[in-house]
Amino acid sequence: MSATAVSPVDESTSASSLPSVPHWINGVRVEGTSGRYSDIYHPATGKVQARLPLATDAELDAAVAAAAAAFPSWSSQPPLRRARVMFRFREILDARMDEIASIINREHGKVFSDAKGEVTRGLENVEFATGIPQLLKGEYTEQVGTGVDSWNMRQPLGVVAGITPFNFPAMVPLWMFPLAIACGNTFILKPSERDPSASIWLAEALKEAGLPDGVLNVVHGDKTSVDAILRHKTIQAVSFVGSTPIAEYVYAEGTKHGKRVQALGGAKNHMIVMPDADLDQAADALVGAAYGSAGERCMAISVAVTVGHDTADNLLSRLDSRISDLKIGDGAKDAPGGEKDMGPLVTKQHLDRVTGYVELGTQEGATLVVDGRASTSNLASRTSNLPSDGFFLGASLFDHVKPEMKIYKEEIFGPVLGIVRTNNFDTALELINEHEFGNGTSIFTRDGDTARDFARRVQAGMVGINVPIPVPMAFHSFGGWKRSLFGDHAIYGPEGVRFYTRLKTITARWPTGIRTGVDTSMPTLG
Ligand code: NAD
Repeated sequence: MSATAVSPVDESTSASSLPSVPHWINGVRVEGTSGRYSDIYHPATGKVQARLPLATDAELDAAVAAAAAAFPSWSSQPPLRRARVMFRFREILDARMDEIASIINREHGKVFSDAKGEVTRGLENVEFATGIPQLLKGEYTEQVGTGVDSWNMRQPLGVVAGITPFNFPAMVPLWMFPLAIACGNTFILKPSERDPSASIWLAEALKEAGLPDGVLNVVHGDKTSVDAILRHKTIQAVSFVGSTPIAEYVYAEGTKHGKRVQALGGAKNHMIVMPDADLDQAADALVGAAYGSAGERCMAISVAVTVGHDTADNLLSRLDSRISDLKIGDGAKDAPGGEKDMGPLVTKQHLDRVTGYVELGTQEGATLVVDGRASTSNLASRTSNLPSDGFFLGASLFDHVKPEMKIYKEEIFGPVLGIVRTNNFDTALELINEHEFGNGTSIFTRDGDTARDFARRVQAGMVGINVPIPVPMAFHSFGGWKRSLFGDHAIYGPEGVRFYTRLKTITARWPTGIRTGVDTSMPTLG
C-alpha cells in the first residue's frame, strides 16, 4: 500500500501534470472523470500540490450501487467476523501511523505529533468497533405473557454516508465508518476537498485488513456531491461534521428526503478560570487548547472567562510568556528546525478570514495583547520569525472582549484567544449558557462544589473539569448542544451504535399457538 501521490510539487508545474487523488469505489482506485477539480494545497509552502476530481452523479451512483450490492452479504456476516476485520485494521493503523500522519501534515498543515494524536484518537474508535459482538447483543425477556417471550435486536440500516470536515481528515472519518461497518452497514465517505488523501489511505488499509469490496467507498466532491448524497434514494442515513450553517442545511435537506441524520456543527468553547485555579496549569492548558492545531479544532478553547478581580491580570502574564515560546513552522516529521508547536492554517482563504477577525477585534475595541499577524507593525507582535511562504499566522490574544463583539459571537477557527473578564461565577456561567453554540466547555478551579455546580448547570454537551479539551473517549459518545449538533444522536460510542442500527422487537409464542381463539381487543399478554 502506498500513500496517495501528493508530495509537494514545484509552483511552475502545470495543472494537468499535478497528481490527482482518486475516488475509491468497489475496492479499487477510480480516476475522476468530471473534468471539475479543486486544488489541494501544501499549507506550509502555499503551493498547489495535487488536484481533486469532484465526482459526477454517475460516479456517486456507482459507489452507491457497489455499497448496495455489498450490503446483503456483509450484513449477514456474523458480527465476530466483522470485528476481526477491525482488529486487523487496527494493527495496520498502529504499525503505519507515521505514514498517515505525514499525509495529514502535508495536506492539513498540523504538526506531525498532533497528526499522530489525531490518528490515535481515531484508532480508539476502531478499537471500540472491535467490540461489536457485545455491542449488538439484544435484550430478552422470558414470559412477557403466559407462554410468550420477547426480545429485541438492532439491525443495520443499509447504505449510509459520512460527510467530513477538513480539520480532522482521519479522525472524523474514523468516528463514522468503522462503527457503521461493524454494525453491518455499507458506507459512502465524502471527505473534505481540502485534505482528502487520508481517506483513501484508510480505505486501502481496510481492504488490506480483509474488508470486502464495496463495503467502504470514498467519493470526492463539493456541494454537488453532498446534495446528491442527501437526495439519493438508496442512502438511509447521513453523518455530517462541519460548520453550523452547512450542518443545519444537511440536517434539513437529509431529513426532508427521509434519512436519519446526525449533523455536528461549529463551536465557541469557553474555559472559566476561577480565582482559586492553579494559574500555571490553566495557562498551559489554555495555550495548548487555543493554539494547538492552529486553533482549527472544534473543541479548541477560543474564549477564556476569568472570574474575580485579579485573575485576568495574573493569567495574562503567564499566557504572554508561553505564547512567546511557541515554535511556529512546517511541522513535517523531518522538517528543518526540529519539532514545532503550531503549523500553518489550511488555505490562504482561511488565513485571510482569520486575519480579518484579528483586525475586526481591534476595531470592535478589544485589546490586542499579542498580535499574530506577520506583517504587523504592532509592538505586541511575537511573530517576526514566521515563515514567509505558506499560510502561517502567529498566536493572537485579545483582552477585554465583550459579549456583543463579533469576535466573541462567531467561530473564528484559528489561533485567536479572547479573554472576557467577569466578576463572579454566575455571570461566567450565564455567558456560556446564552451563547448559540454548546459544543465543549471547561472550568479550572480547586473547588469541587463550584465544579459540580458548573457540570450540572452548564448548557454544553461536553464538559471538562481541569481538563481543557474534554473530547469523550471512544466508548462514550461525542456531541454538542444547541447549534453545535442537529439531530437526536451524538456521534460514535454507544450513541453511534444506536444511530447506525434500528430496533426490532420480536414477541413469540410457541408451540401451541393462540389457544383461546379470536380476540379483537388490544393484546395485553400479561
Ligand atoms: P465545512 O462546513 O465547510 O465543510 C464540511 C463538509 O461539508 C465538507 O465535506 C464540505 O465539502 C461540505 N460542504 C461545504 N460547503 C457545503 C455546502 N454549501 N453544501 C453542502 N456541503 C458543503 O467545514 P470545514 O471548514 O471543512 O470544517 C470546519 C468546521 O467544522 C468548523 O466549523 C468546526 O467547528 C466544525 N467541526 C465540528 C466538529 C464537531 O464535532 N462538532 C468537529 C470538527 C469540525
